[in-house]
Amino acid sequence: MNKPVEEAAGTVPLWIGGKPVGGTSGRSGPVYNPATGEVTRRVTFAAPADVDAAVAAAQKALPEWRDAPPLRRARVMQKFLALLQENQRALAQIITAEHGKTLPDAIGEVQRGLEVVEFACGIPNLLKGEYSENAGTQVDTHTVRQPVGVCAGITPFNFPAMVPMWMYPVAIACGNTFILKVSEKVPTASMRAAELLKQAGLPDGVFNVVHGDKEAVDAILAHPGIGAVSFVGSTPIARYIYETCARNGKRVQALGGAKNHAVVLPDADLGFAADALIGAAYGSAGERCMAISAVVAVGAAADPLVNLLEKKARAIRIGPGAGEGVDMGPLITKEHRDKVASYVDLGVKEGAKRVVDGRGLTVKGNENGFFLGTTLFDHVTPTMKVYQDEIFGPVLVVLRVATLEDAIALVNANPYANGVAIFTESGGAARRFENEIQVGMVGINVPIPVPVAYYSFGGWKHSLFGDLHVHGIEGVKFYTRTKVVTTRWPHQDTPAPGFTMPTLG
Ligand code: NAD
Repeated sequence: MNKPVEEAAGTVPLWIGGKPVGGTSGRSGPVYNPATGEVTRRVTFAAPADVDAAVAAAQKALPEWRDAPPLRRARVMQKFLALLQENQRALAQIITAEHGKTLPDAIGEVQRGLEVVEFACGIPNLLKGEYSENAGTQVDTHTVRQPVGVCAGITPFNFPAMVPMWMYPVAIACGNTFILKVSEKVPTASMRAAELLKQAGLPDGVFNVVHGDKEAVDAILAHPGIGAVSFVGSTPIARYIYETCARNGKRVQALGGAKNHAVVLPDADLGFAADALIGAAYGSAGERCMAISAVVAVGAAADPLVNLLEKKARAIRIGPGAGEGVDMGPLITKEHRDKVASYVDLGVKEGAKRVVDGRGLTVKGNENGFFLGTTLFDHVTPTMKVYQDEIFGPVLVVLRVATLEDAIALVNANPYANGVAIFTESGGAARRFENEIQVGMVGINVPIPVPVAYYSFGGWKHSLFGDLHVHGIEGVKFYTRTKVVTTRWPHQDTPAPGFTMPTLG
């Protein structure tokens, strides 16, 4: 057994064919501890030749793995699940050290990831086909679901463990082999997962990890040996991945960015709504694709709601994610922190009312960490950039509208459509909202409606390019191809096939 990766100093390697390997590019990138601002290690960047090596390892492992009984594949997932549960805290510590989110939040992230592994343990049931006896006279038809082959996943920085786990447990349980290009900012959690998969009995080459930037991604997108690509990240890159994969004849699902709204009606329990919104807006420093970043306050809800949000935003305890009693950690990099802060400058310039201003925060003892305080803007309008752009930081904007109808129209006019929430006590209003809103995931008095693993996760419009969502039954569909078999046995009392179009009747 290799030394656990998080204990190894120096450079994070690639993981190909069941073992850590150095890359051939000679390139690497820094991995920071965002709470201290220090470079803690470097990460190897894969060259196209390393992607070739990963594909070769995945192709070599494929025939045996795809023909292994689904139950045997599920048993590997069961062992992996047990190992993830044993190592949940240690994995969360890796996430906190590289991403910056608080430890309880990171433990929750691992939990939501391992729930997809739990789902994948049921794969024999999910791979069952259909059968029709006598689809024609003495002719039977059945379907089988077969793996696609070598699949790849490309993932963002904000969920170092969970987002990769949306992909590879389902892909692997379905009989595919997998290459993960995890975000270069947070490489270590997936290396630890690779070790745990090996420990669970996964054959070498079924799961491979390459790190890197555009060079590694482009090598994946161009590789003829890769049949399907799952991507999660920002909208411009999601669109690029989708278009490039489509051009190269690959199956693709590309989940993009978000601007998630919460509509608050005057009849809502405003205290409950404000508590929910504060966690949803500022949890994980706003670096969640399902973070609420825009509140749409309807009518008389606005003034009392903004008062509550202000009080709660000011009370948030900011510090290193590993610290006790911390609500919100740092942002991922200095560059990103500065970019988010520049949106606060812009909001002020655009004429939004600054209720809480998070700029200029320093955390005692962690002066070089990538911290930014919470910002709350009121009286924001749809023409302002602070509303239009995905800021991906601790900045919450409030827009005011007169009616539920106006709120629905505003949300539906936004090009992003990942998640949305409504806060109300009215079943009729909630039902109308659910019916008319053009967004993939809807919460009713639930601010972050991330579906459980046996449902599927995905947005609409610019938040997802492709048609199938991740995990749940849509994940199984993405990672399998349907084959339809029509069977007739000779020497029965039916006429032999002739020259006309068979009608099977
Ligand atoms: P990103 O798009 O910058 O990077 C995502 C992945 O793409 C990384 O692995 C990165 O190395 C790679 N990449 C970056 N630039 C590339 C380029 N020019 N060519 C090829 N590959 C490239 O996203 P990020 O900053 O890591 O993550 C934050 C974004 O992810 C936000 O927009 C957030 O909303 C989104 N996100 C969406 C979901 C969802 O479910 N829709 C979930 C999590 C995060």
